[in-house]
Amino acid sequence: MQVLKGIPVSPGVIQAPAVVLDSEEMVIPQRQIPPGEVESELQRLSDAIEKSSAELNDLSRKVSETIGEQLGEIFKVHHAMLNSAQLQGEFAQAIREQLLCPEYAVSTVLHGYARRFRDMKDPYLAERVQDVYDIERRLLRHLIGAKREHLKALDRPHILVAHDLTPSQTAALDRSRILAFATDVGGRTSHTAIVARAMNIPAVVGLQSVSTDTNGGEEVIIDGNRGLVIIAPDAETVQRYQTYMQQAQQLESDLTSLRDLPAVTKDGHEVTLHGNIEFPQEVATCLKRGATGIGLYRTEFLYLDREADPTEEDHYEAYAEAIKLLQGRPITIRTCDLGADKFTHVSGDESERNPFLGLRSIRYSLQHVDLFKTQLRAILRASALGPVRILFPLITNLRELRHAKMLLNDVREDFEEEGIPFDRDMKVGIMVEVPSVAILPRQFARECDFFSIGTNDLVQYTLAVDRLNERVAGMFTPAHPAIVTLIHNVVQAAKAEGVEVSVCGEMGGDPVFTLLLVGLGVDTISTAATSIPEIKKMVRSTSMRQARRVANKVLTLESDREIATYLNEVARQIIPEAFAEE
Ligand code: PEP
Ligand code: MG
Repeated sequence: MQVLKGIPVSPGVIQAPAVVLDSEEMVIPQRQIPPGEVESELQRLSDAIEKSSAELNDLSRKVSETIGEQLGEIFKVHHAMLNSAQLQGEFAQAIREQLLCPEYAVSTVLHGYARRFRDMKDPYLAERVQDVYDIERRLLRHLIGAKREHLKALDRPHILVAHDLTPSQTAALDRSRILAFATDVGGRTSHTAIVARAMNIPAVVGLQSVSTDTNGGEEVIIDGNRGLVIIAPDAETVQRYQTYMQQAQQLESDLTSLRDLPAVTKDGHEVTLHGNIEFPQEVATCLKRGATGIGLYRTEFLYLDREADPTEEDHYEAYAEAIKLLQGRPITIRTCDLGADKFTHVSGDESERNPFLGLRSIRYSLQHVDLFKTQLRAILRASALGPVRILFPLITNLRELRHAKMLLNDVREDFEEEGIPFDRDMKVGIMVEVPSVAILPRQFARECDFFSIGTNDLVQYTLAVDRLNERVAGMFTPAHPAIVTLIHNVVQAAKAEGVEVSVCGEMGGDPVFTLLLVGLGVDTISTAATSIPEIKKMVRSTSMRQARRVANKVLTLESDREIATYLNEVARQIIPEAFAEE
């Protein structure tokens, strides 16, 4: 049994066999072979070794000639490793004795070597891990070849283990076959994590070595509540987790009973609780969990995993579907937040050195006016179907806001001329997620109708911490006094200018911060469907007086540690069952 600690990004506990996805998205088959096929499978392996060896010889020669002898040596070493009698003996043994198919045998044996190299703590030897993977990939490419298996080919549910998953790969996962996932890299507010929560797939990321520590077919427990992955759990652990899962189900059904109750504090202050969605179908889940509207629709997911850009009709149909499901409840549609970790079929090819500081979001839209206007037309048409607000992401300066509003006005004028119905009072808001806006919010409040604070990016840009990077995940915290001060500043400006303010970043879905946000004066919290009941419970268990007291106290604290400790204590006192230790 091996326990790995990572970053919990989507709650829930699942036990199932693992399927390991390698970096080329190959699923390593975990079949056992009939004894009668041992010889033919050994021959298949021997053919793959031969082809790989020929490739390596070729590579070594070419690289030596064109780049230099020393680099050519790398492939000579791979050749020697691949052809070592010890390695080939171990492959053959796994096939003959354990009846593993060659792909499974190669992967199991080489993962064992990778683990041993990594454990040696010597930096030179630890780097050999990459060589081992290289050999594995080369062999697998020949073994699997045209017979590449896809996740779709899985015949029973698994836990997916991978080095990394992109947001679009995650969105494409088939929930009936993949029950949970674990990755080596990633952070809590990465879009992959956000999609996992949206799809209700328990997930742990930032585990560093889970893809090498796990062999396909091995039993694994994913604890998305505490960020643990347990490989090959012993009987006692399995038993303990079964009890824990029953308790979690009980807590879940207690929370579900809150669905139709309002999010009102004990002294009668109402907090609007909305859901975040990436796909229109999620509206139903948000309503089921007690949301009274959608506070953030991340429309860029319409662009991912497609061969061509969505048409105006594609946009319109998606919005119309969400609006229909909402039956008169409000929805805030955010214009595309493309770039950084979310690409279209075209933008993915234009790599940038610092994508989160690059041509992202509203900047991308303003440089691709046709694409932007297509979306604006669809949003405006949808505004005739129900209460719609439009939200511009990543606004950094007033010029951008004015430019975006001007393009929206152009479309309005076209509609007037064309006689297309739309809501003339549709509210226009901006995401407050860049420090330049959070520092000077009044200027912006005068030129829009509402603010939506995106704490994921606000934390990333204010603290200079990459939201995707597990190596600095410990520094990524909304509890930093600078973040609290900025939110306070934004809420004060919003109140002074009569502008509504919501929080739609992941901070809003963490019950530890609910009292702080309510006490600072945030009107709306918009969060993933999974978090809504817990946040509602928090709101209903406190008073506005207590929330203000907590917020005032937090504003006097000087470090993220102090703030996190204080807020944890307060939250624990209010709903101890949600913070129960194992
Ligand atoms: C945010 O940055 O907090 C936010 C809600 O936007 P996204 O996570 O889509 O970048
Ligand atoms: Mg953002």
